[in-house]
Amino acid sequence: MNEVIIIVDMLKGFLQPGYPLFCGEKARRIIPFVAELLQKYSPEERIYVCDHHPPDDAEFKIFPPHCISGTEETKIIYELVSCPGIIVPKTRYSGFYKTDLEGKLEKLVPKRVTVVGVCTDICVMYTVADLRNRDYRVWVPIKGVASFDEEAHLFALKHMQQVLGAEVN
Ligand SMILES: [Zn+2]
Repeated sequence: MNEVIIIVDMLKGFLQPGYPLFCGEKARRIIPFVAELLQKYSPEERIYVCDHHPPDDAEFKIFPPHCISGTEETKIIYELVSCPGIIVPKTRYSGFYKTDLEGKLEKLVPKRVTVVGVCTDICVMYTVADLRNRDYRVWVPIKGVASFDEEAHLFALKHMQQVLGAEVN
C-alpha cells in the first residue's frame, strides 16, 4: 500500500489501569479503532514507537518514573499483539529523537504516514511535528488518539491541523 502507520506508546504503562501514567478509561476507547485500522497494514508497514527509559532518566523530573526498560509497562497492550510490527524504542516525546525511525522511513518511502496512540498532546504531537518537518504527508485520525488531558488533546488536534499541516479528521 506504500503507506505506514506509526503507533505511539500503545503500551501497558499508558493504557492499562494501575500504572503511574495510565491515561484513563476514556483513552482506552481508541483501542478497538486502532486494532481495526492496523489490519489494513502489513507488519512491515506498522511501526510501534515505544517509551523505554533508563531507571534514572531526566524525564522523571517532569513525570513520575514509568516505562523503564525491561518492565511490564513497556510491553504493547495485549489487544494489539496480533498485529506485529517494527519496534522503535524511544526515550523522549518525539519518535525521532536518538532512534532509527528516520532511516526506517527513508527505506519505506511512504506516500502517507498515519499516526495513532497516546498522548495526543505529547508524544503524538511531537512525532507529527518531526514528520512534518521532513515533509511527510500525515494523517491523524481523531478516533485513534487520546490523552489524559482533554483540553490539551483538543489543543493538539487543532495545532497539528492548522500549524503543522497534518490531516486531522
Ligand atoms: Zn516517557
